[in-house]
Amino acid sequence: MQMEIRIIKEKLQQKLSAKRYCHCLGVQQTAVELAERFGADTHKAGLAGLLHDCARDMSNDHLLKRAEEFGIVVGSLERSSPVLLHAPVGAQLARIEYGVRDEEILQAITLHTTGGPNMSLLDKIIFLADYIEPDRCFPGVEELRKLAYTDLDQAVLAAFDQTICHLIQSQRVVHPTSVKGRNALFLFLNGK
Ligand code: FE
Ligand code: FE
Repeated sequence: MQMEIRIIKEKLQQKLSAKRYCHCLGVQQTAVELAERFGADTHKAGLAGLLHDCARDMSNDHLLKRAEEFGIVVGSLERSSPVLLHAPVGAQLARIEYGVRDEEILQAITLHTTGGPNMSLLDKIIFLADYIEPDRCFPGVEELRKLAYTDLDQAVLAAFDQTICHLIQSQRVVHPTSVKGRNALFLFLNGK
């Protein structure tokens, strides 16, 4: 039985900083708009957007502990950057604590940070909504917002490229799943 949105929001607000909660509302709104534009399920998009960061304000220790409990694979990359785990741990919390049973929603939450190959329409919408929600502010965000509403796949590819470039420039690791996702979409869009 799906929990009422009002209850989900109250619960979420207690778990997140005010700024993060605002971000989640922004992602919810953008995800619904993208779903309308591209014919995805607006209810699923809104719920996935709202809950995507439900584990984002957990401490590193807590994230590692919950990941272990949930049987999530913790590689060397996740061990050095436990924040990466907020996506798969968040999906499990969405299921257990927020009563979400829909596998498409849970997968979109799982993939929202790294993306991955074979992303569904909903996965792409959440990945991109997280990137371009109204509070986001970075050079080129306006162009990316426009592109998102005209060509979703090209916008997802641009988001992958920007994220990967940014990680390299700031001397951080790039998750192999992101590289796989970027390459798969790149090859698909270039007809190779
Ligand atoms: Fe996140
Ligand atoms: Fe987010």
